[in-house]
Amino acid sequence: MDPEYDLHYILNHLGEERERHRGAVAPPVYQTSNFCFDDVPAMRLALADELKSSFYTRGNNPTVETLRRKLAALEGAEDALAFSSGSGAVSAAVIAFVSQGDHVVCVNRPYSWTRVLLRDMLPRFGVSTTFVDGTDSRNFADAITEKTRMIVVESPNSMTFEQQDLRAVADLAKAHGLITLCDNSWASPLHQSPIACGIDLVVHSATKYLNGHSDVVAGAVCGGHQLIQQIFRGPFMTLGAVLSPHDAWLMIRGLRTLEVRMARIAQTTAEVAAFLAGHPKIRQLLMPGAPGDPQAELGARQLKGQSGLLSIRVAADDLAAVDRFCASLECFLLACSWGSYESLAFPVACLMKEESYRSTANPLPYDLIRLSIGLEPASALIADLESSLAQL
Ligand SMILES: *Cc1c(COP(=O)(O)O)cnc(C)c1O
Repeated sequence: MDPEYDLHYILNHLGEERERHRGAVAPPVYQTSNFCFDDVPAMRLALADELKSSFYTRGNNPTVETLRRKLAALEGAEDALAFSSGSGAVSAAVIAFVSQGDHVVCVNRPYSWTRVLLRDMLPRFGVSTTFVDGTDSRNFADAITEKTRMIVVESPNSMTFEQQDLRAVADLAKAHGLITLCDNSWASPLHQSPIACGIDLVVHSATKYLNGHSDVVAGAVCGGHQLIQQIFRGPFMTLGAVLSPHDAWLMIRGLRTLEVRMARIAQTTAEVAAFLAGHPKIRQLLMPGAPGDPQAELGARQLKGQSGLLSIRVAADDLAAVDRFCASLECFLLACSWGSYESLAFPVACLMKEESYRSTANPLPYDLIRLSIGLEPASALIADLESSLAQL
């Protein structure tokens, strides 16, 4: 079949089984905590495969299942689990596979709460992590010990956009019998396919592009049946960070437009980036494929398209100048999330205090501002940036 129609089919029909729902075009919200049965054998049968049947909504629910089937298909995975946050998804996917004494290798500068999980929380349970510069695949190989169980990557990462060679990481992990996990939130399933590169598990903050409407916090893990079953039986059911049926329904609605949103956002981002790249008040433009990107070749090989998340370093002499730039923005809202219909600006300066912002201990420079490009016209966003840059 036409591959474009395949994508349309996944987003708009797959898993909806309208004949089971009185022909409802939009799926019903099964707002129920549990399901009843005629007799004990029927209960036993449902319990035997809790991941597929409807027994208790912490395990599975028909509305959530429709979403899970779409998420799995989008990533080319056998199955998927939906979570009540991206962090819940990352945590469950890691915790399912590590035990006391085990070791994880993770790329430098992962999403902040992924770092907290690996650097601060898991050591309390005897699991250690080595963070490596992932721009050179040999660093992963050098960090592997006989205790290593997992490699965690995020390509590109979501503040400074360093990429990792997913195929090289997957090959290395296979040679050592390790599980690989990739946070694919930046690219969305449309613009990068980690599983096709040999990665075992793909996680998403579905709060970002997958939902795309800034009204749901959600997460996803996609992977093979066996690994998903292991996550389900372990941390999914015990930690219980499940997506509610209503939020799953909103996510299904958000997914209807994923393809058109990503196409529009990529187009607008290219126009905004071209404006920023040549501007005298921009110290640096950070995004895959920016002028002078040392990873341009990897990006061209690995990414199928751009997303709308990029960072700029503005020519601000101090925090007050960053404040002036941000206060002057009108189209861009000041907010921390990204991947949605509205354009956002997130200044790293909001994490810093006046006394310490120039300290070399700060992992990111004070003049870094992350921009998430939304669905507004490029001309409006460029005019907004232009007049705000003039405040510097
Ligand atoms: C936001 C984000 C997360 C966490 O997702 P939540 O839905 O906020 O819990 C994980 N990874 C990346 C790259 C993110 O941007």
